[in-house]
Amino acid sequence: MTYLFETEEHAAIRATCRKFAQAHIAPDSARWEEAEEFPIELYRTAAAAGVLGIGYPEALGGQGGDLGHVLAASDELLIAGRSVGTIVGLGSHGIALPPIVKFGTPEQHARFVTPCLRAGKIAALAITEPGGGSDVASLATRAERDGDHYVISGAKTFITSGVRADFVVAAVRTGGPGHGGVSLVVIERGTPGFEVSKKLAKTGWWASDTAELHFDGCRVPIANRIGPEHGAFPMIMMNFAAERLMLAGQCVAIAELAYRESIAYVRERKAFGKPIVGFQVTRHKLADMASRLAAARALTGEVATRAMRGEMAAGAAAMAKNVATDMCSFVCDHAVQLHGGYGYMRETLVERLYRDARLYPIGGGTREIMNELIAKTEGY
Ligand SMILES: Cc1cc2nc3c(=O)[nH]c(=O)nc-3n(C[C@H](O)[C@H](O)[C@H](O)COP(=O)(O)OP(=O)(O)OC[C@H]3O[C@@H](n4cnc5c(N)ncnc54)[C@H](O)[C@@H]3O)c2cc1C
Repeated sequence: MTYLFETEEHAAIRATCRKFAQAHIAPDSARWEEAEEFPIELYRTAAAAGVLGIGYPEALGGQGGDLGHVLAASDELLIAGRSVGTIVGLGSHGIALPPIVKFGTPEQHARFVTPCLRAGKIAALAITEPGGGSDVASLATRAERDGDHYVISGAKTFITSGVRADFVVAAVRTGGPGHGGVSLVVIERGTPGFEVSKKLAKTGWWASDTAELHFDGCRVPIANRIGPEHGAFPMIMMNFAAERLMLAGQCVAIAELAYRESIAYVRERKAFGKPIVGFQVTRHKLADMASRLAAARALTGEVATRAMRGEMAAGAAAMAKNVATDMCSFVCDHAVQLHGGYGYMRETLVERLYRDARLYPIGGGTREIMNELIAKTEGY
């Protein structure tokens, strides 16, 4: 299945990503998930293969393309790679770099964007804090101006790729309370006072690293600020809308994988003398999975198409995320059920996908916050 907007160009990107994932990810995917880490060299291998640059301007070291190309690439990497944790870790630049691409200076592009896309440097986005993630306007990490530096103190948590990141794009409070006092600043690994305080253990996404970070009087040049001082909130919200579409796309890919695994299993597995696909209940389960999957793919594709036409609405992206998230949880739950006891075993892919799926109603803005956005857009 592909998105309706796809052309031959997307098919070529899919072929590249499929080949890359089959060669460099799939053979080790289960082992990396169990080890809770994929090799750091994979960033460089993926950069060299041109996989990390899809959707970024060629002038900055990317392959060109737009959100549609990113969705097609991510779909293929997830399905062929069979490791959600690896793909989300490898793709953390996808939420960290866009604000730099859109609002950064040429010097910032050269220092931060091109080295990630071409040489596999690792970027992470750090918005969430131990004190709260949903209420972004209340973030507490403080950046005080001191000459041509900010002195930054505070903490961030749940940061994807934060353990190994070469730099984090962090939301910090440079001004007064509320959304008008927030700036985005790049904090580089090795800055005195920047510490990875914990690698967090989690339900799913095992191959990706998730960090708690501490900043204790980190001196960061003003030149590392992205966009205007106190002007980060609209950038963060714009970035969230694109991230939510990418998360919706991941849900579609995970569900597609769980659905395919289920079809293969029910054709093979026998009960009461016949393959379990022979029971009408089994076929109806699969039909429900396929229908919801098609609906979520269609909505994600429509909202992405509108976004590419410049009609990016926060409410529509939130709708796509919630619909895709619910669908993914439903499909993965059914996939486990169809696998019976094997569905509960760590050796079975759908067991892992079921755990991976649980993140999506939480990460990138919770299901409840998405409904808040939808309600606001709908005007009640
Ligand atoms: C694996 C993983 C990876 C992540 N990666 C990143 C990352 O790379 N960078 C980053 O910055 N963050 C990241 N996050 C953080 C994620 O975006 C937050 O967890 C999420 O936004 C929710 O914030 P919170 O956990 O503080 O929950 P809280 O904000 O404390 O919410 C707790 C509960 O209260 C509900 N709630 C809160 N406000 C309202 C309201 N107004 N109305 C109704 N219900 C409400 C929420 O929906 C939720 O159910 C990641 C999280 C996880 C688990």
